Amino acid sequence: MSHVFPRHTKSELPIAAGGDGCYLIDSAGQRFLDCGDAAVSCLGHSNEAVIKAVQEQVAQIAFAHTGFMTSEPAETLADLLIEHAPGDLDRVYFVSGGSEATEAAIKLARQYYLETGQPERCHVIARRQSYHGNTLGALSAGGNEWRRAQFAPMLIEMTHIAPCYEYAEKTDGESSFDYGQRVANELETEILRLGPETVMAFMAEPVVGATLGAVPAVEGYFKRIREICDQYGVLLILDEVMCGMGRTGHLFACDHDGIAPDILCIAKGLGAGYQPIGAMLCSGQIYDAIRDGSGFFQHGHTYVGHPVATAAALAVVRELTSRDLPARAGVMGDKLQSILENRIGQHPNVGDIRGRGLFRGIELVSDRDTKTPFDSSLGVAGKIKKAAMGEGLICYPMSGTRDGRNGDHILLAPPFVIEDEQLVELVDKLERAISSVI
Ligand code: PMP
Repeated sequence: MSHVFPRHTKSELPIAAGGDGCYLIDSAGQRFLDCGDAAVSCLGHSNEAVIKAVQEQVAQIAFAHTGFMTSEPAETLADLLIEHAPGDLDRVYFVSGGSEATEAAIKLARQYYLETGQPERCHVIARRQSYHGNTLGALSAGGNEWRRAQFAPMLIEMTHIAPCYEYAEKTDGESSFDYGQRVANELETEILRLGPETVMAFMAEPVVGATLGAVPAVEGYFKRIREICDQYGVLLILDEVMCGMGRTGHLFACDHDGIAPDILCIAKGLGAGYQPIGAMLCSGQIYDAIRDGSGFFQHGHTYVGHPVATAAALAVVRELTSRDLPARAGVMGDKLQSILENRIGQHPNVGDIRGRGLFRGIELVSDRDTKTPFDSSLGVAGKIKKAAMGEGLICYPMSGTRDGRNGDHILLAPPFVIEDEQLVELVDKLERAISSVI
């Protein structure tokens, strides 16, 4: 009997025993095309440069606490990230994963306003149907009811506006642009309702991953959000934990929207699965306020800037940038979109196929005309996940995402090194899995 505490306590999991490019291999030798381990694996499973970097670093020095010393890989990685980062992002704070990055961002925003003499600023506004992590602060920012429900009495009070979810919420006759402006303007309404002098930050994902299934904002939405934040002195925190690091066709997803945040959170693809690592990038203005004020960010974890994790991430970012892999994700993503549209676009239960780069979502509905979601008791997404595993495909189906109703979607996030024939293999397997369930 296993003593590991699995997430699903009633199911037996295969044992991951090997990796080969885009495939995970279990202990029985079955190969799984890895297209959705929560959008982590951007380089595939056997990248020699990253493996070598980890081996060399662990042999040289495994750990040095950043309260006492910094390390070469952490310094070089921060330089490289800043060289490519949008806007005036100027400093990098390393953490061990996505939730730690969003938690740190919330606390940094708070401390920035304390240092600059605006202690009444403490409200965070985020969006419904969003996910920013599972620790209590990050969960408070997230607007996904299913994830929040059990812990509701313990959550920090934060408020949520509408997401930018064109497929489900744009009204008939409204242009995409007008829809985007309308939902962006909800931010202004909410800031005015709370009192601008009390609001410190707005947090959002440029392309919504786990809760909606690769939903990008419409053109102009984030420009309007940036304007509103600037007008009221509210910090813009972008959560690119899932959509960042090249997945959408740009190294940073917000590059597509032509805006830059004040604080940017990344994780997943940063370590590409070779090490657990995340990061929070912040503007020079925020950093300087703390340096020139108390001189101490009142936050920290033991493994901040871990040398082996940063060495792995440095090798990952060098691979991404030197091989122009974000652009490849863009090209392969467009191909994936058209194969999906050709092969399953007419399925009576496929409502929408969308996304950017190698970050694609398929929304499943019981009725395409009315866009009516499946009843959650049917567990459509869970059944497809199981059927896909049986076919040798790891994808990321989720259900229960729409407020007040249920919705099922499948998220696809293959490694950027995926080849043409593997895109076809992906869709072959997915098509069989879907048609075995609905
Ligand atoms: N933000 C987003 C957008 C995510 O998708 C996730 C993870 N799915 C997180 C935060 C939390 O990251 P982690 O699981 O590494 O804590």
